[in-house]
Amino acid sequence: MIKTKSYAAQSPNENLAPWTFERREVGSHDVQFDILYCGVCHSDLHQVNNDWFPGIFPMVPGHEIVGRVVRVGDHVKKFKVGDLAGTGCMVDSCQECENCKKDLEQYCLEGNTQTYNGLERDGKTPTYGGYSNTIVVREEFVLHVSEKLDLAAVSPLLCAGITTYSPLRHWKVGKGHKLAVLGLGGLGHMGVKFGVAFGAEVTVLSTSPKKEEDAKRLGAHHFVVTSDEAQVKAALGTFDFILDTVSAEHDFNMYLSLLRTDGTMICVGVPPKPAEIAAFSLLGGRKSIAGSGIGGIAETQEMLDFCAEHNIVSDIELIDIKDIQTAYQRMEKGDVRYRFVIDMATL
Ligand code: NAP
Ligand code: ZN
Repeated sequence: MIKTKSYAAQSPNENLAPWTFERREVGSHDVQFDILYCGVCHSDLHQVNNDWFPGIFPMVPGHEIVGRVVRVGDHVKKFKVGDLAGTGCMVDSCQECENCKKDLEQYCLEGNTQTYNGLERDGKTPTYGGYSNTIVVREEFVLHVSEKLDLAAVSPLLCAGITTYSPLRHWKVGKGHKLAVLGLGGLGHMGVKFGVAFGAEVTVLSTSPKKEEDAKRLGAHHFVVTSDEAQVKAALGTFDFILDTVSAEHDFNMYLSLLRTDGTMICVGVPPKPAEIAAFSLLGGRKSIAGSGIGGIAETQEMLDFCAEHNIVSDIELIDIKDIQTAYQRMEKGDVRYRFVIDMATL
């Protein structure tokens, strides 16, 4: 077994603190890589707080993981010692169902194995995430990371990146479309970058007037403060797509009114409570509401390659792991610019 250092929550809502546990030995199809950076996703905070469902504790969060390969099993073909590597929100799936065969492992009909707060395929061994010094993952779920980009700023691509890239690709958002990105946080700022790269006219819908300058720097063409009635009124019925990245309760009906006829609101944010949606908000204008979860492994590699080619990374604040609680508090208040990334050398 591989002794692993980490930061873990021992029970729900508890502060994270140092914890040592054991990872499995490197199997013949496994890759072990030492973690250099791990992004901090709002999902980490939701899960430590049991916002969605009762979690598995102790919990080591973290699913935006990058580092360098230190060992590979004898059957591993895609990686060698010294390569850069990354892992996102899943570390396994059944690999046999209809969805897995279509490169949609995130929608595995037997359920994918989440990187943390999940169970291995044996149904009993808990998984532990990236707030740790090393990880063992089967080869198929390890991604190649370019040596060209700033590695710390690449880590958020493994969740925030793919979660926004995948729906924009699926709905073919691009030239001629008006895209609104709702919420300018970790996911939102990547949604802006991809929306702009794909040629859409991008508007940020935000509760934080202070973020306007940043939104424009990120490439957004317009900025709407959602508490400003006049600005919201001017945006009524104008968007083809709204990419909703909000982590907290919000009024879906109000945002649906900003879609034009046949527009689609794509939910990627996961507030703790279900939303109330009036049928009237949809039928007046034949509007749709849809959802999207992360992305498959092949598409995640495609996104990483696209980012390397187009020089796209996340805007980050690099933090010491001891400051994780402060980062969580700031994230809770919407005060992220635009992703915290843990420098794992500080573990
Ligand atoms: P984040 O960095 O904290 O950003 C969320 C943003 O939402 C905030 O910065 C804020 O932006 C806005 N916001 C917060 N509270 C709000 C409220 N009450 N009303 C309106 N806007 C509000 O979070 P994240 O890491 O991007 O994650 C966002 C959500 O996506 C989380 O729920 C997370 O669990 C979920 N997620 C889903 C997937 C998936 O597969 N679908 C993957 C990863 C994460 P402004 O300051 O601009 O208003
Ligand atoms: Zn995430």
